[in-house]
Amino acid sequence: MNLNGKAAIITAGASGIGRVIAERYAELGASVCLCDVDERAMDDVRKALPDALVVKADVSSSKEIAAFYDAFRAKHARLDILVNNAGISGPTKPVEEVTDEEWDQTMAVNVTGQFYMVRQAVPLFKQAGGGCIINISSVAGRVGMPLRAPYSTSKYAVRGLTDVLAVELGEINVRVNAILPGLVDGPRGHRVMREQAEKRGMTLEEFMPYVLHNISMHTAIGMKEIADMAAFLASDLAPHISGQSISVDGNFETYRGPKMAS
Ligand code: NAD
Repeated sequence: MNLNGKAAIITAGASGIGRVIAERYAELGASVCLCDVDERAMDDVRKALPDALVVKADVSSSKEIAAFYDAFRAKHARLDILVNNAGISGPTKPVEEVTDEEWDQTMAVNVTGQFYMVRQAVPLFKQAGGGCIINISSVAGRVGMPLRAPYSTSKYAVRGLTDVLAVELGEINVRVNAILPGLVDGPRGHRVMREQAEKRGMTLEEFMPYVLHNISMHTAIGMKEIADMAAFLASDLAPHISGQSISVDGNFETYRGPKMAS
């Protein structure tokens, strides 16, 4: 498997899953271009990947994404891969307590951000004669996740966007797939689980057996597993895989933790 000669954009590529995808893509020979909003993380990734183009841009801002693509086009003659990875976790609280701002912000980053990125990418894919889009959804886009209404809804929407784009862009030789990570072993996964435990009046240690029980393989997954799937889907080994929502999660069957403390 290699990505030699391919140019890839990865949103939120300065840390977390996006950074691991960026490092994997670079290792496989791709030229990578990242956007993020965290200056410190961006400085850090510039040191780790000196050939990468790293630009500050918030995916929920149409203006900043237009400027990001200006910077991309100034350096790259073609685009082959877009990884729509940016996504915020949103609040962990009962639906009746979710504020307008929390709902809107989660949708703006997780759904509208992917639309802004795709809208600018399509003309570049047309020029290149094809391409590949990978949208990062979540297990929360396949099973309803209690106390995460904005996030879970946004991740179902990502799968909707993926299905639409796969049909619409298949005509121009662009493949579009979604990856659905499960319980990810990393700082954000731990934070979200701790929030879920606290809402039930439990410690993380008390809560985790309930979560792991609902995963067939009873385990969290590593970020590298997501990066490997993103590399495979973007490579020439997957020339006709499109329109798929692919879970990397040990088979997360449901997400019914114990009853919340009232
Ligand atoms: P993270 O919270 O660790 O954040 C990664 C990066 O996103 C950070 O560098 C941050 O600065 C950047 N970012 C945040 N808002 C941004 C914005 N508006 N524009 C540009 N960059 C922004 O995230 P992660 O855990 O690496 O998750 C990556 C993707 O995977 C997300 O779409 C997330 O929903 C999804 N996912 C994560 C998990 C998990 O447990 N970590 C599980 C399932 C799905």
